Amino acid sequence: MAGILFIISAPSGSGKSTLVGQLRTLVEGLEFSVSYTTRAPRGSEEDGREYHFTTREEFERMISAGEFLEWAEVFGNYYGTAVSALDHAKAAGKDLLLDIDVQGALQVMKKQPAAVSIFIMPPSPQVLEMRLRHRSEAEHVTSEVVIQRRLSQAHNELKHIGDYQYALVNDVLEQAVSELRAIVLFERGSRDGVQVVAEACKAVAASPKLKAAL
Ligand code: 5GP
Repeated sequence: MAGILFIISAPSGSGKSTLVGQLRTLVEGLEFSVSYTTRAPRGSEEDGREYHFTTREEFERMISAGEFLEWAEVFGNYYGTAVSALDHAKAAGKDLLLDIDVQGALQVMKKQPAAVSIFIMPPSPQVLEMRLRHRSEAEHVTSEVVIQRRLSQAHNELKHIGDYQYALVNDVLEQAVSELRAIVLFERGSRDGVQVVAEACKAVAASPKLKAAL
């Protein structure tokens, strides 16, 4: 049975990392794609766990070699999903979740039209700004110019909400997590339902007895 490709995007300040982290502990059979990036590791991040940290030269080599399903430049750093992440999930019989920005998500929607796309929204512009400022502080980013640039990027990303199949508001964390889980389970149910019907049709077509009985 083909695995489902889930795309999750959110402007920074939507609280996506916590949400996705919780989903990980609640849903089985879901593989999380580890992206490649040229940005430096932050805090306790480890190479191969949060990201594959790499150089611009290596990233550009991978672009030329066609090794990315999608890639984008976000605030001066490259981020990309390797085609091998898809192959790996497929071989393991798992669904795959991509946590990527809007630019990358649009590329994947074109290449993989069956992908399920989910957009996560902050509860309000005020909360978005507050979260973004907290996060910038934690990263020791104090320049108002940089903060404003991040804010305007977040507002631009919000404009793409209509390109996604699902949108959910990350207000109360537990509720958002259970909505996200419900989307994953619903999509699995739909896929399995379609599969069951397809198999039943095949069985009928292959059996003159069944055909006659109908
Ligand atoms: P951060 O540096 O805060 O971890 O991520 C910055 C942004 O890059 C986030 O919006 C995140 O979703 C996005 N991102 C992470 N990995 C990828 C990727 O593989 N491709 C694209 N297009 N965006 C990514």
